[in-house]
This record gives sequence, C-alpha cells and structure tokens, in this order.
Amino acid sequence: MADTFDVVVIGGGPGGYAAAIRCAQKGASVALVEKKAMGGTCLNVGCIPSKALLASVHFLMQAKHANLMGLEIQGTITPNWSKMVARKDAIISGFTKGVTGLVQANNIKIYNGLGVATAPGKVSVSGQDNAQLECKTIILATGSEPINIPAFPFDYKTIISSTEALSLPAIPKSMVIIGGGVIGCEMACIYASVGTQVTIIEALSQLLPNEDAWVGATLEKEFKKIGITSKLSCKVTGVQVNAAGATVQLEGGASIAAEKVLVAVGRRAVCDKETIQNLGLEMRGSAIAVNKKMQTNVPNVYAIGDAVGTTYLAHGAFQEAEIAAENAMGHSKEMGEYNLIPRAVYSFPEVASVGMSERTCAEKGIEVVVGKAPFRSNGRSVAHNEGVGEIRAIRNKADNKIVGVTMVGATVTELVSAARALIGTQEKIEDVCFAHPTVSEVLKEAWEDAYGLSIHVPPSKK
Ligand code: NAD
Repeated sequence: MADTFDVVVIGGGPGGYAAAIRCAQKGASVALVEKKAMGGTCLNVGCIPSKALLASVHFLMQAKHANLMGLEIQGTITPNWSKMVARKDAIISGFTKGVTGLVQANNIKIYNGLGVATAPGKVSVSGQDNAQLECKTIILATGSEPINIPAFPFDYKTIISSTEALSLPAIPKSMVIIGGGVIGCEMACIYASVGTQVTIIEALSQLLPNEDAWVGATLEKEFKKIGITSKLSCKVTGVQVNAAGATVQLEGGASIAAEKVLVAVGRRAVCDKETIQNLGLEMRGSAIAVNKKMQTNVPNVYAIGDAVGTTYLAHGAFQEAEIAAENAMGHSKEMGEYNLIPRAVYSFPEVASVGMSERTCAEKGIEVVVGKAPFRSNGRSVAHNEGVGEIRAIRNKADNKIVGVTMVGATVTELVSAARALIGTQEKIEDVCFAHPTVSEVLKEAWEDAYGLSIHVPPSKK
C-alpha cells in the first residue's frame, strides 16, 4: 500500500526543506525524503560548520591584536582544535534537530532513506524507512558533491575535500589547497590562523576568479600577512601520496610537499541515475535542466538547489524552493535574475558582491562609473581595527542605475543584503539615511560616489 501525498520532496537540504515547508504552508500534504542528515550540505558539511570554525579562528586573530587595542593578555592563546571541532559539531547537531523539528511542526512526514522516483508521481524509499509514496508533484532537491579530479583523486585522508577538512583529527603542519575559489579561500583562513603553513594553487590569474581583479589582489595581499602563499596561474599535474603526506606536482616541473592536500575545484550537481532514467529527465551535464519556474521537462516534476547547478548557494536554493513550491501549488512564479542573488565569502577579509561586476560590464560593453569608498575612512571600522578594504558601487552611465556592488572588508557579508535591496530601490541614495557610526555608511559613500555626491570621499579621488 502506498502512502499518498500532494507533494514528495527528495532531499532535506536548504532547497528541499524550504520547498516542503512552503508547500505545507499553502495547504499541501507533504513528505520529505532524506538519506543522510536533515540540513544537507549547508548545515552538515558546508556553510554552517565552516562558519563555526571561522568564528573560532576569528576570535583568535582578534586576540592577537589585543595589545593594539589596549589589552594585556597573560600567557599565550593557543587553538584547541578538538574543542573547536566539537563546538562546530554541537552547533550542527543543534540546527539539525531544529530543522527536523521545524519540518515536523509543519506536519510534513519525514522518511529517512534513499528516495528514488520510479515514475512521475511515484517515489520508492529504502533504508532506515522503507515505503512506496504516491503524489501529484515531485520536487527534486538532491544536492551536489565535491568535484573529484582523476589526476589526483580523493583518498579522503591525505587528498581531501572540504568535508574532511571540516573535521581533521589534528591541525596539519602544512596544507596545499588546490583551487583559490570560495572554499579554497575560506579554508586557507581557517588553517593559516591555527598555524598550518598554507599554499593555495589557483589555475587562473587571481584568487576568487569570478570577482573583479582588485578583489583577488586585495585578498592575496591580506592573506600573505597571515602566512598564506598564493600561487596563481599555476596548474597541478598530479599528487603523490607518501608516508609524510603528499607531493604536489606543478606544471613546469616544480613540486610542493604538504601533510594534507585539499582539493577545492568546485562542486557538481548530483541526482541518482535511476531517478534520472525512470523519469526521463533532461540533463545539462550533471545538473537537472529546469526552466525559470524550476520545472523539469517532466510534468509535475520540479528541481531546485545544487541539483540544478545554478548557484551552488544555500540562499539560491531557498529562492528556487519558493518558486518551485508556488508553481507546484498552482500559482505562476519565475526566478528573477540570478546575478541579483548575493555572493558572500567569509575569508579574512570578507568578500561580498551582488549584481554585475566591473568585468562583466566591460564584457557586455556597458559603460560605467565606479563609486569607491574605503573602510579606512569609516569611524566604526577604524575603531574596530578593521580598516582594510573598500566598497565599489557600479553605475550604468546609460540609465544612471546601480548595476552592481562589490565589497571587500571585515563585515561585508552583513552589508550585501542591504546592497541588494538598494539595487532595486526607487529612492535616490541621497534620500536614504544610514545610521552613524556604522560600517554600513561605507556602502552609502560608495553609492553616492558613483553619482559624484559622496560627502566623505575627497573629490581628487574621482
Ligand atoms: P569555486 O568554483 O568557487 O572555485 C574553484 C576554483 O578552483 C576556481 O577558482 C578554479 O579556477 C580553480 N581550479 C579548478 N581546477 C583547478 C586546478 N586543476 N588547479 C588549480 N585550480 C583549479 O569552487 P569551490 O571553492 O570548490 O566551491 C564549490 C561551490 O560551493 C561554489 O560554487 C561555491 O560558491 C560554493 N560555496 C559557497 C560558499 C559561500 O557562499 N560562502 C562557501 C563554500 C562553498
């Protein structure tokens, strides 16, 4: 006998649980199938655990500047790695229980097991729970996995992915990180802060190659100060594991020895082969192809989050989940522009951006005026000893609208949502009052500077 629901969601990450809750809020009977842990990559081996470790090491880095702030610390402050990892695990455990409770509070039935769509409207669950489910609508939110490179495949001990890097048994003496993208930069900050000798190897010519060149250059300079070496325009040809760790071979013949090699060259969408075949899903590489309504090519089958390979961001998945849920419930809603989904990197300093970069504008032939404001002129930033970095607001000369904001600085990930809201605002920036003294004033200054109206950016700079 099959259990019957309006909607069955496969995958309990940010995409899956958000879609399930929104469908339930709209009156649907909903089942959620999860084969591992509720919360998916984000909660278990991604956003939250990495931020927990980054918070511990940020504290440590702050303490190193105690003297400058007028404080005397007796003795040394040393990282206790196992305590840091235990704290991180406790945070994950709390949130996993919280999300499970939230889903159940919305009267959603959770099935623990592998969910495979056997046909449109039919899902088979096997594992801890075994069941046959029938439904009107299936939402696939099956996530992603780290990309495994055949020339240096994961052995999960010496050649590791971000998953293992979040729970290493001890602080390694040295680490080579292959890939200077988001994970590479965040992990480099964690390990360099606890004393690991970190080398990032990035194939392209800057760190965070998807951002403008000045962003990568600022990170490279600041990373150097905390002992991170960045090797740019540099390709890895192979990795040999040995008793002491590994030797990383670089193109051109040089090599680097390291105790651990973290491969962070991107993630790829995943969905089990049977579901793809049984439903006859159209794919784009490893990702499930969808339209702007998050519909697949199969009627009443939606796909969202990392499984569709659009943003690989939890908040991108949240957004797609709401769109899929609205459409599954009979409304009609489309995803907006993907470049308006904010990007946030929690490195030291942080990086955040939304909309178009200067490079994208140049590629599209859009003439722009770039407003710039530095953190070193902001009272609160200086008071906090956080004067590194700046904010750039990019104005399209043709229609005078701000088309993008890029930020590097201590707390810019907290400012990017305001930047996103301002991109859509009908108000003129000079009419929007920002609280003083706050770090957010730098956003206003950059914005005004794009119109030649900044009070605190000297005219000679324009
Ligand atoms: P990424 O795409 O951000 O970076 C991968 C980097 O590896 C790129 O810079 C690329 O040029 C480089 N690269 C690829 N092959 C290489 C090679 N053979 N040698 C040297 N460099 C090579 O991917 P990621 O950092 O692995 O992160 C995976 C996904 O997870 C991303 O989409 C990211 O947005 C997401 N993520 C987001 C956050 C966040 O929002 N804060 C944090 C972690 C991960």
